[in-house]
Amino acid sequence: MNYSTLLFDVDDTLLDFQLTEEKALTALFKQQGIELTADLKASYKALNHQLWREFEEGKRTRDQVIYERFSLFFQQFGQAVDGVALEQDYREYLNQGHDLLGNSREIIADLAEKADLYIVTNGVSKTQYQRLADSKMTGYFKDIFVSEDTGYQKPMKEYFDYVFARIEQFDPSKTVIIGDSLTSDIKGGQLSGIDQIWLQPEGVKEDPLIQPTFKIQKLEEIYSILEK
Ligand SMILES: [Mg+2]
Repeated sequence: MNYSTLLFDVDDTLLDFQLTEEKALTALFKQQGIELTADLKASYKALNHQLWREFEEGKRTRDQVIYERFSLFFQQFGQAVDGVALEQDYREYLNQGHDLLGNSREIIADLAEKADLYIVTNGVSKTQYQRLADSKMTGYFKDIFVSEDTGYQKPMKEYFDYVFARIEQFDPSKTVIIGDSLTSDIKGGQLSGIDQIWLQPEGVKEDPLIQPTFKIQKLEEIYSILEK
């Protein structure tokens, strides 16, 4: 193996967050008596994406993102809702979502025998721990680093400093991050000086400013990089 330490993102890298989000939004809107149409879903996703982008850029706190996203969303339709209450309900639905992305668990189980695996994820601690446990993956990782517990988030160098300080015999030349996000996973790997494998999601355009070390379309292609 070319790398002895593998840092994995969770959402849309190991777990199918698109599906989890879809199920949770459908349940939340149903609870509000609203049918989740394709337009509403696209509109929510655009807003949510923008808010998380502002979080990555340090312009918003995590609490501002999660507790204001539904009030901001419904404001667009002239509805005043309790954003905190809706977020709490949504979170309960999200916590239940742990659909695997492809055969990720088999790959992780196999890699855990060959390298040290760690989770590096931006998100809410309780949610991520529960979803990893429900998907029966927790045991394969030596440690789990959720941004909420570190005080920083990907792509901040401080987040990666926190992680690196907690990895035994850390060697940056033997460490690689694997993730689907150019702006958090790949950029974070670059800022912190480790190699990066971009699991390029369908439809996401490349960014001339952020060039990953490696690109793959499916997680199993990781073997062609690790076993070179
Ligand atoms: Mg991700």
